[in-house]
Amino acid sequence: MSTWRDERNQKARARLEKRLSALFPGCVLAHALRQPLIPPTQRRAVESYWRHRPLMADRLARALAARSGQPAGWQWRLGRDKENGLAASFRVPPAPYREAAFARGPGHCCVCGQSVYRLGWHCDLWDDGKPNRNATWHAACVVAWQFWTAPPDHLRMLKLRQQRRCATTGRRLLKTAEVDHRVPLFAVWSEHRTRPWPELLAFWGAPNLQVINKTAHLEKCADEAAERAKRRMLDADIRIEEEWAAPLADGNPIPISG
Ligand SMILES: [Zn+2]
Repeated sequence: MSTWRDERNQKARARLEKRLSALFPGCVLAHALRQPLIPPTQRRAVESYWRHRPLMADRLARALAARSGQPAGWQWRLGRDKENGLAASFRVPPAPYREAAFARGPGHCCVCGQSVYRLGWHCDLWDDGKPNRNATWHAACVVAWQFWTAPPDHLRMLKLRQQRRCATTGRRLLKTAEVDHRVPLFAVWSEHRTRPWPELLAFWGAPNLQVINKTAHLEKCADEAAERAKRRMLDADIRIEEEWAAPLADGNPIPISG
């Protein structure tokens, strides 16, 4: 087995080193050569580097987004029409630069809005002086997006970050522990959606993620469901009051007849 792997790795290393550009990031090369199966191309090496560092990719993507800022006239909206690039659910992070109206075009990352350079890198290491016109994602932003939209896939890394302790009870995390958003995403949509865009992304990133044991998670979900039900009832009360109050300019509701 190891002979097969050794042979494969020798070939992959030779292929990678043959095409290696002089300015290829040293940290990525060092990562690639440490892998049990060495990636045979520079692109695969970059992808592997970020895939193994989702927390760093999350931080970088949010920092790049902060550099772009929120486009003028943009607000977080949901939609059903795929053409305009709006997401149908508040579970998907808001992404103005994925929307047709605000997209910056080829050579720019659709997640953070910044220029994409060779190999999906986020800075112009090669001094090309222009973005890569064929790219619309940073290699780091691909991983950040996967992390934001499917955090349970990163359970192991998130557990390690908490020294395998439950974030709510402090007890040891069990095998059935689950990833949870501290501020639930429905509350992000209902209470925080007018916050500036790069700041909003933190609700999907590491600052709002925690791993908790299943029983603690069930309790939290039940509390949240009760809170949502209470809020729906309050909203309904307000709507009823508004309906009664609206026809009269002085604010006195119309008396119920009969
Ligand atoms: Zn990006």
